[in-house]
Amino acid sequence: MSPLRRHPVTLIPGDGVGPEVALATKRILDAAGARVDVAFDWEEAAAGASVFLKGDSSGVPQETRASIERTRVALKGPLETPVGFGEKSANVTLRKLFETYANIRPVRELPGIPTRYKGEGIDMVVVRENVEDLYAGIEHLQTHDVAQALKLITRKGSEKIIRFAYELALREGRKKVTTASKANILKFTEGMFKRIGEELAPEYAPIEANHLIIDNVAHQMVKDPAQFDVIVATNLHGDIISDLASGLVGGLGFASSANYGDGVAIFEAVHGSAPKYAGKNVINPTALILSATMMLRHLGEHDLADDVEDAVLATLEAGKALPQDVVRQQGGDVEAATSTSGFADAVIESLGTRPTGVPSAASRPRVKAITPHKRWVDGEARLAEVGPARVVGLDYFMETLLSPAEAGTKLAALAGPRLELRMLSARGVVVWPKAAPAFDHPGFFRARYVARDPNDDLPDSELLALIERVAHLAPWGHLEKLRVWVDTEGFTRAQGE
Ligand code: NAP
Repeated sequence: MSPLRRHPVTLIPGDGVGPEVALATKRILDAAGARVDVAFDWEEAAAGASVFLKGDSSGVPQETRASIERTRVALKGPLETPVGFGEKSANVTLRKLFETYANIRPVRELPGIPTRYKGEGIDMVVVRENVEDLYAGIEHLQTHDVAQALKLITRKGSEKIIRFAYELALREGRKKVTTASKANILKFTEGMFKRIGEELAPEYAPIEANHLIIDNVAHQMVKDPAQFDVIVATNLHGDIISDLASGLVGGLGFASSANYGDGVAIFEAVHGSAPKYAGKNVINPTALILSATMMLRHLGEHDLADDVEDAVLATLEAGKALPQDVVRQQGGDVEAATSTSGFADAVIESLGTRPTGVPSAASRPRVKAITPHKRWVDGEARLAEVGPARVVGLDYFMETLLSPAEAGTKLAALAGPRLELRMLSARGVVVWPKAAPAFDHPGFFRARYVARDPNDDLPDSELLALIERVAHLAPWGHLEKLRVWVDTEGFTRAQGE
């Protein structure tokens, strides 16, 4: 007899320990599904190291992309990323290809896992923006020895992820959303994220909203983690605090995650390929198994998700099958630890058992579909709303070994009739006309030219002529127009400007 329901799923075993944890998870899902007449049509697909080795620099071959386009759901093992040079991360490529803008990492206290926070009731979700920020990976060497990365944050991206966080809170019956940012220093990028959080909060009024500076989030998380419910952050900050949060409840062996886009969802463990354990059948597969329970809920298989999650909780609670990382944390004999495949066997045997010392997954509120939400104002409509920008100057970033005083005098003389040199800065600190109290020459300055008449609107021809004049003195690394809108000055001031 054919099963009641079938779900096509792209399965990417991945690199290092990936194939071991993927196999363990697949076996559990097949066994759990068989008990309730649900089957999975696994489409096995490649990504990561093996693909780079074949010369595909994206790390994600066409067949894998096509499979995910078909199934719209992927369960993924970790993918190795070359560090510091060469190819882009295949993980990041996958996120961007399918615009999986929301990375969700639930963090809950687990039974039988010894931690410093045992009994405090940690139960939070970190919602991380997943496609913007420094992960856009737009980097340039401005000189041979000066590196720069662009931190790109958009209003649309921020609104999408913050709404996602609030809607997740509503669906899961959660009470509070904390927006975390570094708005105190990064006024435009992180500042926009914070402001949008504040704009949207009233729409979700029953949910308590607050904002914390990200470094304080790290501090508070270590001091009193149970105060957090849902935390939403930009990409890099979300990455770091979600790993910190995982460490509170037992470490990477237990940290699950989901990447949601508008049409595609990719489920994966937070951990990487842990190469030193690859092929040894010793790694803890719980993180991917719990990620798979998020996948089951995404597929509408809530009872099945509860069954699998409860079987994991019951297995850990019974304490008879403990993976190596847990045994090590307990100070036990790692030789006696349960293998990866042995842990999967134990979970399969526990299917149908509910934990007794912690709440059963089945007792949590049912996760409903995301509610449709008001869309951001986009395209032409937004342009009409914010109005045109006036160009009031130019930041000219240059490689030079001239002293600030010498460069300042020469660059000021090149300004022309409509512009003046307002300042030179090095790494954001004014070095001319005022001298910085302590100055360590980086070989790279910014010259800020501004219109003499503050109501001027400089045409490109004026700026191009300036660039031409200055380039004879010092070649430009990059250039930024200084713009103002009716309500906004589109550039920050340097320290001391
Ligand atoms: P990692 O693979 O996560 O491993 C770091 C350490 O975390 C391991 O040595 C181990 O600690 C612990 N660990 C990881 N997974 C575990 C598990 N399932 N059970 C128990 N302990 C676990 O991080 P990495 O060594 O920095 O990265 C290796 C490669 O993975 C890199 O190429 C990186 O780019 C890639 N990566 C991929 C992803 C992804 O695909 N999403 C995520 C992160 C990293 P002990 O040594 O203390 O036992």
